[in-house]
Amino acid sequence: MYITAHAAAGAVLGQYISSVPLAFLAGFVMHLILDMIPHGDEWIKDWKWFKNRMTRIAVASFIDLIGVITMSIYWINHSDPKNLAPMLAAIAGSVAPDALWGLYELTKSPILKWYRTLHTEIHELIFKKEISMKQGFLLQIIFVIIATWIIG
Ligand SMILES: [Zn+2]
Repeated sequence: MYITAHAAAGAVLGQYISSVPLAFLAGFVMHLILDMIPHGDEWIKDWKWFKNRMTRIAVASFIDLIGVITMSIYWINHSDPKNLAPMLAAIAGSVAPDALWGLYELTKSPILKWYRTLHTEIHELIFKKEISMKQGFLLQIIFVIIATWIIG
């Protein structure tokens, strides 16, 4: 699932949880729950617009990064200032599972290997079937719009 969609879930949680550490933890757990829902990102590696796999992943990650930054600025400006700290903590918590995974990919550290396996397997824990990349993209955009609407 795109980081933008995960961050959106975190931003919503931050509106309802006032404790900063709890908000972080809730964001982290919510990430793993959302990853269980099919979201079509698997197909990024077959994306026809770009020739090789690394380019596809790099372009998708770049768009995602722009998405997170743009939406975070929007959420910060459209939520109650007293929710700012927990909201940022929950966003950080909801991005952390993928950051940890990225850290494993970069370092191949054995300490993170069990985590990488868990994170990968959680995607197929309930649903075995993937949806298409287009469906997944649409689903996540709708999700971000609803989350943004809840935030304010
Ligand atoms: Zn994930």
